[in-house]
Amino acid sequence: MVCPYCQTELPDGARYCGECGGDLTLAQVPVPAPTQQTIVPSRVNATHITPKEEHDRNTKIGVVVVVSIGVVAILCGIISVLLLA
Ligand SMILES: [Zn+2]
Repeated sequence: MVCPYCQTELPDGARYCGECGGDLTLAQVPVPAPTQQTIVPSRVNATHITPKEEHDRNTKIGVVVVVSIGVVAILCGIISVLLLA
């Protein structure tokens, strides 16, 4: 293995670099970076919204808005009728 701090060749399993004294047990943390990079595309895919899904979502939002406005309008009508009665 190679020290990530000073690039010195070290025996495999070394916990500290004999050259710069770097903690190799901590230095091993960044090693899974390739794994994280493979996760990124899946995240992108998970958050990626196709035009159809976007359309469906907009349609649902539109329905909710229309229904909400309708409910409010009906309530306002009922209230105004009660107030006038
Ligand atoms: Zn080193």
